[in-house]
Amino acid sequence: MNFVFLGPPGAGKGTLAKQASEKLKVPHISTGDLFREAIQKGTPLGKEVQSILSRGDLVPDGLTIQLVRERIDQEDCRNGFILDGFPRTIPQAEALQTFAPPTQVINFLLSEEEIIKRLSGRRSCPQCGAIYHIAFNPPRIDELCDSCSARLITRKDDTIEAIKNRLGVYNSQTVPLIAFYEKRGILSNIDASPSAVEVLESFLSLIQKLKKR
Ligand code: AMP
Repeated sequence: MNFVFLGPPGAGKGTLAKQASEKLKVPHISTGDLFREAIQKGTPLGKEVQSILSRGDLVPDGLTIQLVRERIDQEDCRNGFILDGFPRTIPQAEALQTFAPPTQVINFLLSEEEIIKRLSGRRSCPQCGAIYHIAFNPPRIDELCDSCSARLITRKDDTIEAIKNRLGVYNSQTVPLIAFYEKRGILSNIDASPSAVEVLESFLSLIQKLKKR
């Protein structure tokens, strides 16, 4: 199955996509992670998108679509994939329909108040990509990643100013995708407010229901 994970920043799409990708044995493709990796490596793409990401704006559609298209063309996506953070605009969704139409789109629901609480306490591992929260999911040793012991960072776009910008961008550019996929009859909603374990359970039971259809 080709999955798209839709929802506001901070809804836990990345955390869930990582776990779901292991369970379902399909790759997790996060455009945000691909851009951050390019920035960390200092590639030409990374240099081009660095300031866009730190403001919380969107990378131009052409660049983003090409990146995803090349990734989905790889062998490991033959049996499906989980797209996390793509598409984020109507032109991206239209492009995706032409080269890898989603089978199911999961829309994660979370209130704005909860989004701000989650994003402002988020910490990320720059080495392995693990995600923590200072209150809800702290690392075992303060500030250090449980898996690889790297020092955790606050993402540049997790400052209050960038969070507010990202929410504005989400409301104006990404929310229209809900109607886009509803119209195609492939959208399911999941409440993202419970714990990560519970959200994963909701997702897995939804898949079972969809398979029985
Ligand atoms: P994320 O990790 O999904 O929150 O993405 C981090 C940042 O990467 C976003 O705020 C954008 O600057 C950029 N980005 C990720 N996915 C996309 C996309 N589909 N279209 C445009 N920009 C994107």
